[in-house]
Amino acid sequence: MREIKAKRLHAIYFEALKRGTRTRAGCLLWSGAKNSKGYGQLRRRDTPTLYVHRLTWVVANGPIPTGLQVCHICDVRNCFAIEHLFLGTPKQNTADMIAKGRDSPIVPLFGLDHWKGKLADDQVRAIYMDHREGTQIAKELQVHPGVISGIRLGKTHTHLTASVKRLFCERLGPARGVVYL
Ligand SMILES: [Zn+2]
Repeated sequence: MREIKAKRLHAIYFEALKRGTRTRAGCLLWSGAKNSKGYGQLRRRDTPTLYVHRLTWVVANGPIPTGLQVCHICDVRNCFAIEHLFLGTPKQNTADMIAKGRDSPIVPLFGLDHWKGKLADDQVRAIYMDHREGTQIAKELQVHPGVISGIRLGKTHTHLTASVKRLFCERLGPARGVVYL
């Protein structure tokens, strides 16, 4: 657990913003170093190495609750656009939750609705919260990857996903005092 004062964290974040490039899809791409998995890293002499997407989340919403991860709805790992980030559970937890029926399982689109090309409301919410690669989910559901990214980027089905996003932000509130990365 790393502790940094919120005020300093904000300063580091605004400095980091200068090293971001906005894309047409709304991503903010980190131009600095990346780790082996492609996540943007901020290396400074006076702090431990910081992940830019996590730094962004903490500055905007406050500490990351234990057991949750900061995930990308855009699937671009070196993106640190706040509107592209959400909290998710690690892979095992999600799989476990679905297996135990505590979450809406994502089921392939072979049903009466298939010809209409519609996703059930529960499927849309599950896609929005799913932290896996968009292409993987698209393959599983046998839909075009654009359907998945549309939901995650808030371009479609916003009447179903907006409340989910708000829930996280309202519960956490902005960073104050000492925060943990
Ligand atoms: Zn993005």
